[in-house]
Amino acid sequence: MKLLFEESRQGRGLELIPQADTGTAKPAEKYLRKAPLRLPEMAEVDIGRHYTQLAKQTHGVNDGFYPLGSCTMKYNPRVDEEIASLPGFTQIHPLQPKQTIQGCMEVIAKSEELLCQITGMDAMSFAPAAGAHGEYTGLLLIRRYHQERGDSERVNIIVPDSAHGTNPASAVMAGFKVVNIPSNDKGGVDLEALRNAVGKDTAGLMLTNPNTLGLFDPNILEITKIVHEAGGLCYYDGANLNAIMGRVRPGDMGFDCVHLNLHKTFGTPHGGGGPGSGPVGCKELLKEYLPCHKIVKDEGGCYFKDPERSLGQVRSYYGNFLVVVKALTYILTLGKEGIKEASGKAVLNANYMMNKLKEKYEVAYDQTCMHEFVLSLEGLKKETGVSAMDIAKGSLDYGIHPPTMYFPLIVHEALMFEPTETESKEVIDEAVKIYLDLYDQALSDPEYLHEAPHKCPIGRPDETKAAREPVLKYQFDD
Ligand SMILES: *Cc1c(COP(=O)(O)O)cnc(C)c1O
Repeated sequence: MKLLFEESRQGRGLELIPQADTGTAKPAEKYLRKAPLRLPEMAEVDIGRHYTQLAKQTHGVNDGFYPLGSCTMKYNPRVDEEIASLPGFTQIHPLQPKQTIQGCMEVIAKSEELLCQITGMDAMSFAPAAGAHGEYTGLLLIRRYHQERGDSERVNIIVPDSAHGTNPASAVMAGFKVVNIPSNDKGGVDLEALRNAVGKDTAGLMLTNPNTLGLFDPNILEITKIVHEAGGLCYYDGANLNAIMGRVRPGDMGFDCVHLNLHKTFGTPHGGGGPGSGPVGCKELLKEYLPCHKIVKDEGGCYFKDPERSLGQVRSYYGNFLVVVKALTYILTLGKEGIKEASGKAVLNANYMMNKLKEKYEVAYDQTCMHEFVLSLEGLKKETGVSAMDIAKGSLDYGIHPPTMYFPLIVHEALMFEPTETESKEVIDEAVKIYLDLYDQALSDPEYLHEAPHKCPIGRPDETKAAREPVLKYQFDD
């Protein structure tokens, strides 16, 4: 496919806008360009075709199955977008007098109330812009808590080896040292290792439950108790609440602080560069440290108030407001029962798919899973040379987005599937058939899979190069 610059023809498509008859303001000479700006020159119809062609070469939930584990690529109801595009929500300014945006402020206040109910927290800030940002903010709360008590020895954050990569990264950015602990043979936290790791230097523990293996840790109450008894606090990575919302609450599991990814679980698509929101919730003991511009509601209406010992500002203004509008729409349309049904179906779909795939594939931790599960293709690779990467690439030829690959790190040749609650049995059955066929193909024609995909515009780009040496600018020949 050609780039816009390559399709450009001088003088084409530029006659739409007439010269202004109001006179033009001239900037000072020093601000004027020496040479004209080289923008592509194209007819409107060709621009439309160009972008339509590009859109056809991408894959989204509207194209087909998207089981990318730990990312919750579920279908988000259209009504969420509809409500978030109402002018009363979009045509506002962050510095507008607060009497004129009471409704918008109430959206945040109501979302806080409902998400606190769902997570078992006492207060929430919508400032953080994404999951990792929420982690960072939550850890700063924990840091502040220890500092304010004059306890400067607590510098360690305990993170299990199955954690999402952002966890140790956020801990380091928030000024902590990371202490890694291994998982036990069931994929949960090794209690002995945890007991040995905690001490006077423990600031807290960061945990995802269900973890990135898709497993719910049955020892969770014991885990949070061990950390609390050592004087640490417990942080819950709630990026994927899809498995537990409406059923169990991090607050009841013993966690003091949590972040959510509204752009996974609550009505906003994940990825694609769009805005996200990673609200951070906490129990009473951390509330006074929350980021500033907290919205408070009383009989007089809504107003902004900086919590007493606020850690300050973590993002401009009040966060990505429209994502919060979508989350509130999502929660209110589903209601208490619908939320519970969604998590139930997410878990059912994952277990259904896992059990079907077990006919041929090896499940890394063979037990009832939550919203996602992990296969290990180590055996298949030894036998046939076909890797997790080859199977993932092979699925592209069938119009399926690959599962997450090579994560979590503790499983070799890992493929991590999250079918989500919004897929039907028919779609999952079809995907299962494709993956079982790919397995047979690995045995009969491994070469074919080494070269997959065969039907995509691009097959196997150099992934590191794309990240390390991105080409972001068109290079003109002359
Ligand atoms: C997605 C995810 C994150 C990070 O969220 P971002 O919005 O991408 O920063 C953190 N933890 C877990 C478990 C996740 O799945």
